[in-house]
Amino acid sequence: MKILLQKVLPIILVLFLLGGLIFLRTEKEQELIRRDFTTMGTFLRIIVPDPTAEPAVNKAYEEVERINRLFSNYIDTSLTFEVNNNPGKAVEVTPEFIKLVEKAKKYHDKSDGLFDITVGPLVDLWGFYQQKENIPSDKEIDEARDLVGLQQLEISDTTITLPRKDMQLDFGALAKGYAADRASEVLKTSGFSDHLINLGGNIYAGGYGPEDEKWTIGIQNPRAQNEIDAVLNVSDAGVGTSGDYERTFFHEGERYSHIINPVSGRPVQGVAATTVVADDALEADLLSTSLYLTTAEEGLKEIGHDTFMAVKTDNDKLSYWVTPGFQKLLSEKRAPVRNAEIIDF
Ligand code: ADP
Ligand code: MG
Repeated sequence: MKILLQKVLPIILVLFLLGGLIFLRTEKEQELIRRDFTTMGTFLRIIVPDPTAEPAVNKAYEEVERINRLFSNYIDTSLTFEVNNNPGKAVEVTPEFIKLVEKAKKYHDKSDGLFDITVGPLVDLWGFYQQKENIPSDKEIDEARDLVGLQQLEISDTTITLPRKDMQLDFGALAKGYAADRASEVLKTSGFSDHLINLGGNIYAGGYGPEDEKWTIGIQNPRAQNEIDAVLNVSDAGVGTSGDYERTFFHEGERYSHIINPVSGRPVQGVAATTVVADDALEADLLSTSLYLTTAEEGLKEIGHDTFMAVKTDNDKLSYWVTPGFQKLLSEKRAPVRNAEIIDF
């Protein structure tokens, strides 16, 4: 009865150019700033094709840290922590906090309740907060499910109330996307509209890359870290991926990963990854998790977003769904996604 927690590396690889190695030797590489940080429980990479961007990059990182301090449910001074630990009390929050709750509500509705930021008690029950994997009993699942339901949340213009003890907000499915957008905003305000931000696989690609071309982004195969399934060319866009290959554990040959269906109370199975391109990284993050949940339920059309790819899995045999909008973003220099089934709306 061995349970193994699998930790993996970046979900999305960022390629500068397809001939990356050749590119590394060009002069432009020397003019590029590339900084790596650790924050929000993951990696943050910021690339700006301008050697004077260093102070702005540090400011962008500080902004990501600020978002983390506000939304993390681990930090005991965060607003999330305060709301989670004061059931029945209308906790005064910021407009930014309300904005993210409202965004989450929108996707809750769009996904027929599958996307739910009150899923915390279930995420906890399966051991994903403590990284102590746990297979709960049906009774435990029922009890935790009972504490989940975004419709129970009371929202005013300035306050949030969790009506019941042990309910828990969890911004894990959208805070990183939002933070990537905020980091982008800081860079733009400082005059660097060309930049690439990758916060644990949540990407914002601002403007153009070092060769004045759109940014090139490689999407990793969910079962082979060094294989790329798709290469996208994007500019002024967010790209988000949700997958079953990080924060995952195995139990008796079954894979259990951190996105949980709040109706069944169990980790989603049958989907290995979803990748979404949207106007910004917040929208892409919201959508990638929502589409991950709905793809498993065959409920794609309810969300109706036209730029995404879903990788379904059956005993680790992968099959691909790609929308026409996503196809258009694929790099012309690379072969299209292998064996993809095109999903039209
Ligand atoms: P990642 O955090 O790996 O980038 P996602 O953006 O897909 O991936 O978010 C997954 C996180 O969202 C989980 O770790 C958990 O905190 C939270 N979560 C799990 N299930 C749900 C759900 N049904 N609705 C909303 N958030 C969820
Ligand atoms: Mg997400």
